[in-house]
Amino acid sequence: MIAEEIRKIKAELPEGVQLIAVSKFHPAEAVMEAYDAGQRLFGENKVQEMTAKHEVLPADIQWHFIGHLQTNKVKYIAPFVTMIHGIDSLHLLQEVNRQAEKANRIIDCLLQIHIAHEETKFGMTFDECRSFLEAGQWRELKHVRLCGLMGMGTNTDDMQEVENEFAGLQAFLKELQEKYFQDEPAFKELSMGMTDDYPIAIRHGSTFIRIGTRIFGERNYNK
Ligand SMILES: *Cc1c(COP(=O)(O)O)cnc(C)c1O
Repeated sequence: MIAEEIRKIKAELPEGVQLIAVSKFHPAEAVMEAYDAGQRLFGENKVQEMTAKHEVLPADIQWHFIGHLQTNKVKYIAPFVTMIHGIDSLHLLQEVNRQAEKANRIIDCLLQIHIAHEETKFGMTFDECRSFLEAGQWRELKHVRLCGLMGMGTNTDDMQEVENEFAGLQAFLKELQEKYFQDEPAFKELSMGMTDDYPIAIRHGSTFIRIGTRIFGERNYNK
């Protein structure tokens, strides 16, 4: 079933869109099933869970950290994480840079933007992000590479609202590319779209869709 969902989703994906299988709350055996179906990108939102899975699963898995990252935990994932999607402050980016340097790596990062009309979700506002980039300290950090933006749409049945949010993030990426990243072509990724809204995200230029439920089934939060 896991393998079949992965094949179905991948068959629909336009070129340039990568699937991140969000395996949070699902056991390593489920990740292995997806792995055996050819899936290599996995998303987790808890440091401890991601680290534990990384230790027991194949080394060629690319781990994407998609949750809220506390600065005191960066050190546990810095040696192996492929991309951190949730950068929402200079302070956090500086710590990722520090730990990446220790691990002798350059870590790819996305800036998380708050696009949803909900108060519970993390991320910078458009203006906070503009100020952050304008201030320029990020340019001094040689062990992180800013690769684009991440956002979560509002959890609503109003698909027009979600569409507006994704279109807004797409336009914002373009604005930032022109203003701050003319010489840095790596700043091109848009991580947006989950089980319920990924087709809309793809229409608006998503390059990483993050899908959990459709692949692995409902999560059991009581375990
Ligand atoms: C859990 C999670 C997902 C996956 O959500 P589904 O609706 O299960 O596909 C995607 N992105 C983030 C940031 C998540 O925390």
